[in-house]
Amino acid sequence: MKAAPAAQKRLLDLAELDSAIDRLAHRRRTLPELAQIDELSGRIARIATQVIAAETESGDLAREQTKAEADVDSVRTRAERDQKRLDSGQVSSPKDLASLQSEIVSLKRRQGDLEEVVLEIMERRESADEQVTKLVAERDELAGTRGTAEDRRDAAFAEIDKEKGELQGKRAEVAEDIPADLLTLYGKLKEQFGVGAAMLQGARCLGCRTSLSIAEINRIKAASHEEVIRCEECRRILVRTAESGL
Ligand SMILES: [Zn+2]
Repeated sequence: MKAAPAAQKRLLDLAELDSAIDRLAHRRRTLPELAQIDELSGRIARIATQVIAAETESGDLAREQTKAEADVDSVRTRAERDQKRLDSGQVSSPKDLASLQSEIVSLKRRQGDLEEVVLEIMERRESADEQVTKLVAERDELAGTRGTAEDRRDAAFAEIDKEKGELQGKRAEVAEDIPADLLTLYGKLKEQFGVGAAMLQGARCLGCRTSLSIAEINRIKAASHEEVIRCEECRRILVRTAESGL
């Protein structure tokens, strides 16, 4: 392949711009905010699961409490009914009276026990509700922190994208000075090796820092300036400039 030396030199400008664009892409991928957002999202998701568990427990306890309160009511109603029968004087047999009194005592005891159960459920429910409140507050705080990190990420993205746009504009201008076949070769090499062209300085490829063999140097010296040469080692296009000393 042949290309005007000036066009070949433009490859170096292109390579420099491409490196800068690649560095921006790398910066965009590795922003510390991205890892932070990921970590916070993980924590928020775990807390969301805990909130559901605590809310479910609170709901279960509310139903348990309603049931226990109904049990208290039913025992109290029976005790009240017995008390009314006792107070009405309709029960006269001493045996029946004793039995009624004993039932009232036992119902009162049962009511007391059931009221204890209600209290215990209420305490557990209160503690589950406190847990929900605590977790929701924790989740909201993390969501706030994540929101701030997202804002910082978006600001960094905007800055990087603006810079990238400017570099791509410059790149398009530089690319206009390079013939299509050379540009295609450069593009293929860049895709394959990350960098498509490097300067030849003395006997050294500045791309891979390898010194070329005497035979290769002699071959390059003998070649015309239009000849597109490649590094034997890294396969990049080697661009000869005034600094190449050839
Ligand atoms: Zn090389």
